[in-house]
Amino acid sequence: MSPRRSLVIVGAGPRGTGFLERLAANLPELYGDEPLDVHLVDPHPAGPGRIWRTAQSPLLWMNSRAEDVTMFTDETVALEGPVRPGPTLAEWAGLDGRTFPTRPQQGAYLRWVYERARDALPPSVTVHEHRTTALRISGPRDGRQRVRLEGTAVPLLADLVVLTVGHLDAEPDGEQRRLADFAARHRLVHLPPDFTADADLAALPAGEPVLVRGFGLAFVDLMVLLTEGRGGRYEGEGDELAYIPSGEEPVLHVGSRRGVPYHSKLGYALDGERPPLPRYFGTEQTDALLRRTGPIDFRRDVWPLIDKELGWAHYHRLFSTHPERTALAWSDFERAYDEAPPRGAEIAAVVAAAVPDPADRLDLDALDHPLDGLRYDSVEALQQGLRDYVAEDLTRRHDPAHSPDAAVFAGLLSVYGQLLRLGKRLDPGAWWHGFFSYLASGPPGPRLRQLLALSRAGVVRFLGPGVTVETDEERGLFRAGSPAVPGAWTEARALVEARIPDPAPEHTGSPLLRALYEEGTRATPGGLLVVDPVDGRILEHDGRPHPRRFALGPHTTARTGSAFTRPRTGGVAFGQNDVTARAALTFLRDRECRLPVPLSA
Ligand SMILES: Cc1cc2nc3c(=O)[nH]c(=O)nc-3n(C[C@H](O)[C@H](O)[C@H](O)COP(=O)(O)OP(=O)(O)OC[C@H]3O[C@@H](n4cnc5c(N)ncnc54)[C@H](O)[C@@H]3O)c2cc1C
Repeated sequence: MSPRRSLVIVGAGPRGTGFLERLAANLPELYGDEPLDVHLVDPHPAGPGRIWRTAQSPLLWMNSRAEDVTMFTDETVALEGPVRPGPTLAEWAGLDGRTFPTRPQQGAYLRWVYERARDALPPSVTVHEHRTTALRISGPRDGRQRVRLEGTAVPLLADLVVLTVGHLDAEPDGEQRRLADFAARHRLVHLPPDFTADADLAALPAGEPVLVRGFGLAFVDLMVLLTEGRGGRYEGEGDELAYIPSGEEPVLHVGSRRGVPYHSKLGYALDGERPPLPRYFGTEQTDALLRRTGPIDFRRDVWPLIDKELGWAHYHRLFSTHPERTALAWSDFERAYDEAPPRGAEIAAVVAAAVPDPADRLDLDALDHPLDGLRYDSVEALQQGLRDYVAEDLTRRHDPAHSPDAAVFAGLLSVYGQLLRLGKRLDPGAWWHGFFSYLASGPPGPRLRQLLALSRAGVVRFLGPGVTVETDEERGLFRAGSPAVPGAWTEARALVEARIPDPAPEHTGSPLLRALYEEGTRATPGGLLVVDPVDGRILEHDGRPHPRRFALGPHTTARTGSAFTRPRTGGVAFGQNDVTARAALTFLRDRECRLPVPLSA
């Protein structure tokens, strides 16, 4: 008798859970009531996994609104399998849909979704949870795979493996090793890139200056844990919000390449006329790129199309909702915009003639370098300048009069979807993902109001753009400066790298992925596992999809833009989960037909 068929899912966070949900939904049709073992491997609890575990500070929030998070399919999702509706996070938890839930709240929702998916499986399927780390996968293309687990000598046997391992740790690169070494020699503190909730922040003493490099969401987590997390609190509201320190906070000196935080989350919904997308970067253009021989270069071949696409979204909305702020008939603008090549003087002239106020024009380069060329007379002038910048951003991003910003957000999501089609041939790289997050995935407005209050209280200090960090061997200190205030240096005994670990293959901290890379599994230079865009099968060194190995999620070339799906938005990730679940079930069902000889362990 052949052994029971077995499926191993490595990583039981949101994506592993979403895959299980689709497995359960498709199983009756494709697999019937044959016996099956499903093994879930994760050192963290199944459902929330590592990032959303319920045992973490409730001070940490999601940066999505409760009404914008669902783990369930609806009829807008392109599915072969059945739709299985279910509540959004807001509906399930009874939260006001506009609020930003805490991470433990989202973790509780994910746990419930996991249990519901598990319980939807028929009695013929047995689910085994292994609270440990998978270290290595081995096995031939045409035979069972072995999954070695930490703490167990006997490997799990798998007819199929699905890797939903998400966000991973990294080994330090050359610069991080040099900084760690410097810190060790001078008894300083150096916290390398990490998931902030996991970092040892106790090493940062009260009252001491700390240099922080990075102004994205990892900074926001750090800011929260070192202020409210150390007993500080807020009083008042809006512009009057005041931070009352506990005295336990260090002083955070924060800088980055741009020198500013990510743009505030939009404070309104895009109603009325939406930009018809895609227009300049759709399947026609991506198909044309894919037909070309030779490499696809992001900057040369793709970025100009994205620029024109986002401009189209922006101006379409401006002309349709605020014609009084335009100086040309829409049809004339549309024709001229259409004819002008992207990113040149010609299109700039078309825009300048049609949109009188520069604040109503979309300039992606200026957005990417918001403080370029600015000089401040003093460090104090820089603080005021940055507070004004953040306050203006907050006002604009909560004012529907600037709804072309929301149209650009819709454009960014559309672009992200199109980039997926190029996934096998192009990894757009860290700059694009950073730019996307900076524009489309910034902090909730209330967090930026807290940042302003912390700045007024002197607990957060801005370093400025183009920040450089140096090590002073003689004095045994870190120091940081910015060209925005020439000659001003801030010294500190602590340096925090506020960003998540670099997933580049040569630095991966995942033994599992390292072993896969060693045997030739493909990854992009940016560290994305190359998968078949059709069904998520992992590509081997020769470009062939591995019949028994799948991967889904942010560590793959099929990564989707926004991690959690908004209801009724076509949920690309749900569609991917469905295709992969169906491919897996079909393979498992047909296994013995393809391989008539019983498989040896
Ligand atoms: C700090 C942070 C905050 C975020 N906030 C938001 C947000 O507010 N809204 C939003 O939409 N998106 C957010 N995201 C984006 C994020 O991609 C998703 O929210 C989501 O966590 C992705 O799910 P996942 O299952 O693919 O990956 P993960 O959540 O990383 O889950 C992967 C799981 O795999 C496990 N694992 C990894 N390797 C192994 C191994 N070798 N063996 C066993 N188990 C393993 C891990 O323990 C983990 O539980 C955030 C991301 C981060 C890092």
